Amino acid sequence: MDSFDYIIVGAGSAGCVLANRLSADPSVRVLLLEAGGKDDHPRMRMPLAWLPLSQEPEINWNYVGEPEPHANQRRIPTPRGKVLGGSSSINGAMYVRGMPGDYDSWQDFGAKGWTYGEVLPYFKRSENNWRGEGPYHGGSGPFTVSRFAGDEVIYPAMIETARNLGYRYIEDFHGAENEGVGLPDFSTHRGRRASTSKRFLDPVRQRANLKIEINALAHRILIEDGRATGIAYDHNGTAKRAAAAREVILASGAFNSPQLLMLAGLGPADALAGLGIEPLMNLPGVGKNLQDHPMITAVYPTPRPITFENELRLDRMAWSLVRWYLFGTGPIAGAPLALQGFLKTRPDLDRPNLQLHVTTASYLARVWHPLWRKGGGHVLSISGLLLNPESRGSVTLRSSDPKDPPRIVYNYLAAEHDRTEFRRIFKILRAFFRVTPACEMVGPEILPGPQLGDDDDEAVDSYLREIVTSTAHPTSTCAMGDGPDAVLDSELRVHGLTGLRVVDASVFPVIMRGNTNAPTVMVAEKASDMILGKPPLAPT
Ligand SMILES: Cc1cc2nc3c(=O)[nH]c(=O)nc-3n(C[C@H](O)[C@H](O)[C@H](O)COP(=O)(O)OP(=O)(O)OC[C@H]3O[C@@H](n4cnc5c(N)ncnc54)[C@H](O)[C@@H]3O)c2cc1C
Repeated sequence: MDSFDYIIVGAGSAGCVLANRLSADPSVRVLLLEAGGKDDHPRMRMPLAWLPLSQEPEINWNYVGEPEPHANQRRIPTPRGKVLGGSSSINGAMYVRGMPGDYDSWQDFGAKGWTYGEVLPYFKRSENNWRGEGPYHGGSGPFTVSRFAGDEVIYPAMIETARNLGYRYIEDFHGAENEGVGLPDFSTHRGRRASTSKRFLDPVRQRANLKIEINALAHRILIEDGRATGIAYDHNGTAKRAAAAREVILASGAFNSPQLLMLAGLGPADALAGLGIEPLMNLPGVGKNLQDHPMITAVYPTPRPITFENELRLDRMAWSLVRWYLFGTGPIAGAPLALQGFLKTRPDLDRPNLQLHVTTASYLARVWHPLWRKGGGHVLSISGLLLNPESRGSVTLRSSDPKDPPRIVYNYLAAEHDRTEFRRIFKILRAFFRVTPACEMVGPEILPGPQLGDDDDEAVDSYLREIVTSTAHPTSTCAMGDGPDAVLDSELRVHGLTGLRVVDASVFPVIMRGNTNAPTVMVAEKASDMILGKPPLAPT
């Protein structure tokens, strides 16, 4: 059996960061296991291609949720990257951290050392922001964060509309002010996707003390006398074992980290026993507390051909491809996004609870040409994400077979709070396209359609149940803290065990109010100092 100091399970957003930081000390031997393969899919470097890419079966776990009890029994598609870089290799590449108050609130769950002042130095350490080094941004980290210009015609009109509605323009969502509208930054580098595999792993691949095994599916955490000692895994069809002299670190994401804990007997004891798994420790919170940002959308046609549909005409796309390949610029280097907002659904809230996006392409968008096939049509869509849902879902085992996908229930709209907030969000989305200049650019609403009255709560609820979906931000299934459902302590060690940590998006005690990739990178940065026994960076 090969022996290492640290075994990292999963080369995703967190795993690649850990592999880089832990192997920086040449005396430390690190094994990085990844169930998927190389991140060399031709579309992977193109930020624009994220949506079709996230549906590619070969680089995806292809999970589908169980019937949703409060959303018409619909089964929610659940893309997750199964490839080097994990979900950072297939995601939308928006760089968002959430609100400072989110991290401060983690103290209430017993997570110590994670206030915004304490995590900001780690956001900065990872980051190479186009603005350069400053109080809010890093200028020399591996994780490149680029400026996004936005659509020349539609973006100014959306900003004007937002101003007419009383929303403030903000240039930097991570500066002194976080509430308002503008455009997000993107985690790209010279127009190419900046996955953690490209930015953290590629530069250190040659280190003699770092071994990377792809197509290596971890089956079981090996545990002896209350200590994690290694991993049993399948490598291209061969059963293997590797020993960890210091630690096993699960970085397998919010679905697979709890799955691996439960397969090892660490989870809700009764449920595990029911599946024939001998419970080693009763940790009822494993797989509980699943959170995501549920999203709803409204769609409007534009009578004039002003949207991203123009860029999708075959001949233009071909030219854009050349331009992107040679210079890293043009539509392929970005996204059909015309506005982002972080807003409050009611003035009495202490921080935004709604993320708003206006997109200039339909979800049916595809490359088209008059002599070949039709496109998705000229539309503007507006989406609203509920950033502080109170509904909680779960990840449970289907069986004791590590190859079986876990059962995922999001439980969207289970909490009255979420239904109430979504009714408000629905009105906010609609109000946007009733104000100039946005209202002058669109025709009668396509989805949900004018027949649905704003104040008809029952009909709106019915629409919500039909349309609510995932934003692929699952978190909190191995939450840190000190409550009865906490799985990890504040240093991300599994309660009651030695030699076992979880470092990925499953550790957040509560989901942050923003996209989850940059926070996961931050968690891995901070965790690497904890694992190596370094003092934390000085709080800001
Ligand atoms: C389609 C999509 C769009 C998104 N858009 C954005 C966005 O624009 N901005 C943003 O901030 N966030 C976005 N996200 C969310 C963000 O990408 C994730 O929150 C983040 O990548 C989670 O990182 P992670 O390390 O927890 O998990 P992952 O990055 O998913 O990594 C887990 C890794 O572990 C591997 N693994 C799992 N089980 C095993 C096993 N048993 N053995 C070996 N390896 C295993 C997986 O293959 C994977 O590589 C998006 C996500 C998706 C899927």
